[in-house]
Parts: sequence; structure tokens; C-alpha cells
Amino acid sequence: MRLSAYLLPTLKENPAEAQIVSHRLMLRAGMIRQHAAGIYTWLPLGLRVLRRIEQIVREEQDAAGAQEILMPTIQSADLWRESGRYEDYGKEMLRITDRHDRAMLYGPTHEEVVTDIFRQNVKSYRDLPRMLYQIHWKFRDEVRPRFGVMRGREFLMKDNYSFDLDHAGARRAYHRMFIAYLRTFARMGVKAIPMRADAGPIGGDMSHEFIILAATGESGVFCHRALVDKPVPEKVDYTADLQPLVDEWTALYAATDEKHDPQSEQVKALGDTLIAARGIEVGHIFHFGRKYSDPMKAVVAGPDGEPVTVEMGSYGIGVSRLVGAIIEASHDEAGIIWPESVAPFAVGLINLKTGDALTEATCQNLYDRLQRAGVDVLYDDRPDRAGAKFAAMDLIGLPWQVIVGPKGLEHGRVEVKNRATGAREDLSPEAVVDRLRSR
Ligand code: ATP
Ligand code: MG
Repeated sequence: MRLSAYLLPTLKENPAEAQIVSHRLMLRAGMIRQHAAGIYTWLPLGLRVLRRIEQIVREEQDAAGAQEILMPTIQSADLWRESGRYEDYGKEMLRITDRHDRAMLYGPTHEEVVTDIFRQNVKSYRDLPRMLYQIHWKFRDEVRPRFGVMRGREFLMKDNYSFDLDHAGARRAYHRMFIAYLRTFARMGVKAIPMRADAGPIGGDMSHEFIILAATGESGVFCHRALVDKPVPEKVDYTADLQPLVDEWTALYAATDEKHDPQSEQVKALGDTLIAARGIEVGHIFHFGRKYSDPMKAVVAGPDGEPVTVEMGSYGIGVSRLVGAIIEASHDEAGIIWPESVAPFAVGLINLKTGDALTEATCQNLYDRLQRAGVDVLYDDRPDRAGAKFAAMDLIGLPWQVIVGPKGLEHGRVEVKNRATGAREDLSPEAVVDRLRSR
């Protein structure tokens, strides 16, 4: 992509409305613009990141045996009356009336819709287990939308729902998601620690929030130091018993402030291996048994022909929140530092002197060859000062910069800079493509 033709409205000044670094940087890097409180437009650069995160989430959900569907954003209130949640949900739900005076709502979550799909289409224990997920927009009329995409009103979520014949099956589904989440966040270059969370009225040990440690996080969290660097499972056989793998993680203390008990013997024994920190919730996995299947009659015929009400769980990931959370975890004074796996482009190509014949030709040649090699390049071909170009490229945080100017070319050299480390290498233009292909 040529920057001269790209909508990238970067800002030099810090926008006054942004209180935390990720919000400031997303505005300054031209990734998003606010439309109304907690509602954003994703501009081209921001959308590329959102899509890459979404794709990692999708691949890991698919690998764990879930199937993607797409449910409506606008839902019928009748279904929510069946589950009993229509009156309970409160003001976070945006209620809508259509022209025929029917009560509708913009979905804040999809348990009712997916349970309805399930009960209409799955009738036998032979068709279990099932996991159905979508990656779609939710609306919650949050009292205080803030911190940009971190707490929006309209936001992109991956929500997965599991259906099993019995509790043992539900536990297996839960474990699959537990491991899939570890892998998902690790692939994005962030550490998200699973922490015991409130299990609601049904209780039990199957509720975990996945939390990225960051000073600006909204949740207070407590965990064993060893969790911070614990390596994530690389190859996983999702058909195997995953309980031992999950136990390795849950054996180490980790709890959000709602669940944390400083007086408990377990916590006292931790001494200074206990970290007290703040964190950003990027995912939540949750077993809720028959909470929806009971009132909504999601029933299958069991092996003996008797009807069985299915066990369910739900598993959310804040896809749009992750864009902000990754920036909170990966930035410096100059701007964003994208992990390679979610970067909007791999390489920023900087032309230091537009109009100079050799510089132009070298840039054009590199631009073509990099793209042919399958490397995503953003080419800054604008007639701006070098200083402004360096600042903009650091701000938007692409992992690699290729800097081309007449002075270097006199010696047959261009510069390759790594955004994260600041390391610079002088290479011949011919060597650049191989260098970046083997990055
Ligand atoms: P929170 O406690 O942050 O309000 P929640 O418990 O309401 O989150 P869930 O219903 O479990 O969230 O939703 C799944 C995921 O969606 C959360 O883990 C979070 O990452 C994301 N999420 C929830 N609310 C928002 C929001 N207002 N803006 C952006 N992402 C959100
Ligand atoms: Mg909430």
C-alpha cells in the first residue's frame, strides 16, 4: 500500500479525551475515530489489526472443534422472555421497537439465540457434543464507556457456546476452550493469565477470566509469579484428556479481586511469590449448566430414549478490546510496537527523498519485490520531511522499517530497522528481501 493513497490521519498532538496510552495511540495512529460515546469507526489501519486478531481467534476456535456461525445482531425480545432475562438485564440492553410495535433488542450476548438454534436443530445425543461460535458486534449501553475500544458500547466479541449431554462432557468442552485461549493469546504476543473468577449462582470451579497484566487495567488481580512466564502448550491433541494440562495451570494461585481471599491459608503460604497487579480482561470462559437449556427446553433424546436437558457453557473473547490491550502491553515513548502476528503491515518502507531518481527507483523495486515475496508493505512515498516520516512510522509501530535515501545509496546501502529493539542493519537493496523473508 502506498501511503500517498491511504487514509491514515495521524495526529502529532495527544488528543485531550484519551486517558490511557492505548486510546491515545489508536487515535494518534489513525486507527479509529469516535462516532458517539463508546462507538467507533475503524479506519483502514485499525481494521487490518482487528482482522488479524479475529483470524487468530478463528483458527484456534476451529482447531479446538468449534464451528463458526453468524447470528443476528437484532434479536427478538420474546426469546429473552423465555429465558427470564428480558426484565433482569437492566439498562445495558438497548431495547428497540420495530414498526409493528414488536419488542426487539440489540444483542448484548447470544445465549438465547444460540439455544434456540440448538433446540430446533439438534435432537439426539448422537449429535453431541457441539460448539458453535461467532465473531460479531455486541451492544451494551455501558454506564461509563471509556478508554476507547477497551470499554466501548459497540464492540466485537468472539462468543462460543458448548452443548453437552452431561457434566463430564461440559468439563471436556471447558478444558478445550481453556487450552485454546492460552494458545490464542500467546499467538498474539501477549501473556493472558487464566484466573479463577466468579462462577455465579451455579458455583463450581469452571469460570476463568483471561487477564493481561497492565497498570491501566480495570481489574485488581493476584497471582503466582510462576504464571507470568509459564510456557503455553504448543501442540495440542484436542481429542485427548486435557484435564492434566489444565491442572498444571490451575494449581498455581490466580484470582481476580472478586475471588481473592487474602486471609486464606493458600494465599498466606505464597509469601512473596504472590503478585498483586492490575489487569485487562480479554476473555472469559464459563460453565453455566442448564441455566438456559432448562427454561428454553433445549432437550435431546438420550441413549435410552429419555429426554436429556443439555449442559452448556459460554466462552467470550473481547476481540476489539484486544487491540487496545495489546497496545497497553507493547508500546514505547514513540508509539505502538506491534507483535508480528497482529501487525497491520510487516514492513514500512520509507523514501527519504521523493523526486530523487535513484531513491525512487530503489524504493519502487523494493516495494514490488517485497510484495511478490508475500510481505505486506506500507510504502511512505509522500513528499514529507524525513523527521516527520520517521515519527509517523514509529508511531504506527510496524515491526520493520526499510529506510532508503540518497546518502546510503551512494554506498549501495539501505537501512533496515527493527521497531521493537531499535537495532539497525545496513544492507544492499538486493539483500533486503531475503533478510525480511527470514525474519
Ligand atoms: P467486563 O467485566 O469487562 O464488563 P464482562 O464480564 O461483561 O466484562 P463478558 O460478558 O464475559 O464480559 O464478555 C466477554 C468479553 O468481551 C470480555 O472478557 C471482554 O474482553 C469483552 N468485553 C466485555 N464488555 C466489553 C466492552 N464494553 N467493550 C469491549 N469489550 C468488552
Ligand atoms: Mg460487562
